[in-house]
Amino acid sequence: MPKMRVAQISKPGGAFEIVEREIPSPGPGWVRIKVQACGICHSDSLIKEGHWPGLQFPRVPGHEVVGIVDALGAGVTQWKPGQRVGVGWHGGHCGQCDPCRNGDFFGCTTNLQITGISFDGGYGEYMIAPTLALAHVPDDLSPVEAAPLMCAGITTYNALRNSGARGGDVVGVLGLGGLGHLGVQYAVKMGFKTIAIARGADKAALAHRLGAHQYIDSQTQDPSAELQKLGGAKVIIATVTNGDAMSAVTGGLAINGTFLVIGAAQSMTVSPLFLLSGRRSVKGWYSGTAADSQDTLKFSVLTGVRSMNEVYPLDQVAEAYERMESGKARFRVVLTTGH
Ligand SMILES: [Zn+2]
Ligand SMILES: [Zn+2]
Repeated sequence: MPKMRVAQISKPGGAFEIVEREIPSPGPGWVRIKVQACGICHSDSLIKEGHWPGLQFPRVPGHEVVGIVDALGAGVTQWKPGQRVGVGWHGGHCGQCDPCRNGDFFGCTTNLQITGISFDGGYGEYMIAPTLALAHVPDDLSPVEAAPLMCAGITTYNALRNSGARGGDVVGVLGLGGLGHLGVQYAVKMGFKTIAIARGADKAALAHRLGAHQYIDSQTQDPSAELQKLGGAKVIIATVTNGDAMSAVTGGLAINGTFLVIGAAQSMTVSPLFLLSGRRSVKGWYSGTAADSQDTLKFSVLTGVRSMNEVYPLDQVAEAYERMESGKARFRVVLTTGH
């Protein structure tokens, strides 16, 4: 039987092991993908540390996958071998339960599938995935360019386009890391007056290079006061993990403004009086489905939005993962298989 190499975790807190396995065959409704690139996302730590309830080991993480359809399972009619595809966090749903019937596929209560958690992900030379998880990848994007857009990209893009902000509205993007550097670009390209907020004067140049109309240094300025000088932000997307940094910005919301949390973060505080007196809200946003990923990729081609990436071969998965965990990567880390 032909073999492939994958990077697996075999116990909670375990190290990455590069192992040889048989190349899997796709079952009914699934396809096999020859993986070309896979981004490393902070959520992959849920697998590495075993923090996802019910997770079964060994497991191959990876939900920013880009590759080529290589084989079809029974009954697959919409996809062909040779097509370029991406697979993100949302790996599938039942289509029958009440949330699914309402179109809230992420809330599927019967058979929610998450790539790299419910089934093996993209840290390997091949993987199999349900067709519900597949997004078309446009020719204009290389595998390394497309991979981080499958989670970091879709999360920021989809949150912004569903945020209620309209062209010309003030939108704050808190944080200039893996999510934030994409969030600023998408916000600018959607026509929002985009205010980047981060720590330190040294980030101003980056913020402007990404297209931000204004930069607020939260170390020397009060971000809430600065946003209120602009009339308040219709939307603030919070991409950071620091609860205090988030709390310091909530006061920048305009009337009817929305504070949109998209980074898994510590607890934050917000003034109830401030919320109710201005009909303001705090909400979260989940990345999206394969169709949303496809839209993200198309919009990125249309507008030139790209992630800044550091690229490692699959063999160096341990170094690559550590680099992501260090918070020093500029800005996303992507594995390549050589395919
Ligand atoms: Zn992710
Ligand atoms: Zn369902």
